[in-house]
Amino acid sequence: MFCPFCNAPDTKVIDSRLATDGAQVRRRRECLECGERFTTYESVELSLPRVVKSDGNREKFDEQKLRRGLVKALEKRPVASERIDTIVNQILKSMMADGSREVPSSQLGEWIMQALREVDQVAYVRFASVYRSFQDVNAFREEIEKLVQATAAKTDRG
Ligand SMILES: [Zn+2]
Repeated sequence: MFCPFCNAPDTKVIDSRLATDGAQVRRRRECLECGERFTTYESVELSLPRVVKSDGNREKFDEQKLRRGLVKALEKRPVASERIDTIVNQILKSMMADGSREVPSSQLGEWIMQALREVDQVAYVRFASVYRSFQDVNAFREEIEKLVQATAAKTDRG
């Protein structure tokens, strides 16, 4: 890091300690040229990709919105609220693991449905019916049939 006083390219870290409850590292540095001292703070940058909506607009990923959607889908279902945290973390992980700068909202929806399908099938169908806004009754029935088949296959395997 360049010295902010004389712009010398070499500065030396003379002290390093955790700050703000460990969320940051505070470093004291000394310029090797002019001897001035200054402080830098280092923190993790969790950069989530932006969400590309079907109309092409980009928006910031909204964790609260995701949470609200999950709460609604899981309303009155026998699922502990900690599971919602687990799903949210799972989605965040998928988004970051993907490594792209942008993620289509359709992909985000698929991840959410995947997670819900594992947790609660009623919640899954609720979410899917809103999210996919099924064009007609047949599309909805197809989805249910797929779900039933998947469950049957699972049961067969024992
Ligand atoms: Zn300097």
